[in-house]
Amino acid sequence: MAEVNDKMEKVISLSKRRGFVFPGSDIYGGLAGTWDFGPLGADLAHNIKELWWKHFVKEREDILPISTSLVVPEAVWRASGHLENFSDPVSICTKCGHTFRTDHLEDKEVCPDCGGKLKSQASFNLMFPIGMGSSPGQGVAYLRGELAQGMFVNFKNVLDTMQPKLPFGLAQIGKAFRNEISPRDFLFRVREFDLMEFEYFIKESDWEKYFEMWKEEMWKWIERVGISKDSVHELEVSDEDRAHYSKRTVDFEFDYPFGRKELYGLAYRTDYDLRMHSEASGVDLSYFDDESNQRFMPHVIEPSFGHGRTVLAVLLSAYREDEMNGEKRVYLAFKPDVAPVRAAIFPLLKNKPELIAKAREIYAELKKEFSNIILDDNGNIGKRYRRQDEIGTPYCITVDFDTLGENPDLLNTVTIRDRDTGEQKRVAISELKEALN
Ligand code: ATP
Repeated sequence: MAEVNDKMEKVISLSKRRGFVFPGSDIYGGLAGTWDFGPLGADLAHNIKELWWKHFVKEREDILPISTSLVVPEAVWRASGHLENFSDPVSICTKCGHTFRTDHLEDKEVCPDCGGKLKSQASFNLMFPIGMGSSPGQGVAYLRGELAQGMFVNFKNVLDTMQPKLPFGLAQIGKAFRNEISPRDFLFRVREFDLMEFEYFIKESDWEKYFEMWKEEMWKWIERVGISKDSVHELEVSDEDRAHYSKRTVDFEFDYPFGRKELYGLAYRTDYDLRMHSEASGVDLSYFDDESNQRFMPHVIEPSFGHGRTVLAVLLSAYREDEMNGEKRVYLAFKPDVAPVRAAIFPLLKNKPELIAKAREIYAELKKEFSNIILDDNGNIGKRYRRQDEIGTPYCITVDFDTLGENPDLLNTVTIRDRDTGEQKRVAISELKEALN
């Protein structure tokens, strides 16, 4: 156990040291449940979103994008059942005052922090209420606890404007807010996080078929983004643990160093939300199927991907320690599509203008194709390799005197080094784009 928790500490420390993740509002002592992405983390986070968007929206024909408000009126959450049901049970320690989610406690009587006696309290609603406008009572609103309601309240707008045919999905990436009782475990349980999710609208009779289809697709995504498949396990969520809107849920759990816990969820939401919003708003959200000449309420399958938990699982899956040339090294084995830097270009020596000029030329050319290319001439070459290994750069390209023609046979070639093996190959500059792909 000590060894695995050690891994968590190493990843958190590397994240801070190399500018991936900082505690939120750090100089004021941090704010529980918030984390900020630094320069490399912001790139990693962005690349993951971009890849998700490509995988589930751009490469498909049946998913439409949407982007809806973070601030949502009370009426929506009343109809969706979140005001009544989006709650967790709380226990408070009578000695130190710390609060815990009762269902996360192994021993429901004893405080895990100080050994004091625990007292259970009424459930706590996770929605974040906010004051809107300048006069009291102008309207109660909430920061959204999930993205799905944005898709449901816009369902009719989308039908009227795009005339999509079932089955089709509405996808979005954006912030969600949950007033978690006890945020913990780095990016795992926070109060503000990005979600990547879609609602897939279907005929009721097709639900099992599409549930299975999306389960398979989620596995493909897990592989593509670089999460270790061996560390992911499906869990059939029991009746009592399922969300109020779901008739079947499968969680994808990940083996974090602090235990096997939820990474993603796949839920069959039935027609619950569209039905509730039709009743509460008085607007008919049914769908007319012109093949069968029938009007009915579509049913919904929802694959939901926590973005912060993806970043964490990608970091944990990528973290490696080995020995290279007799030295210990730490590296992140990111997939090229998510790595903050895809390739670093090094002029062999810093003080040779002709090497720097050639490196700049290659940099400018590659930059046209890939956004995440950098130029680095700082320190000796071994140090530069190790720096790039630690931030997960898959390729380092070195421009040396042979590139300039010292050995005429090697004119306009460079070395390209593979992060994982440390092996170097000589390739023509004209072949670099292909090599990086
Ligand atoms: P948990 O049981 O861990 O509280 P949940 O079942 O409430 O999670 P869902 O409502 O299914 O979670 O949320 C969808 C996804 O959002 C989850 O699969 C997870 O990836 C992510 N998620 C949920 N809560 C948090 C949180 N507090 N911090 C970070 N990510 C979260």
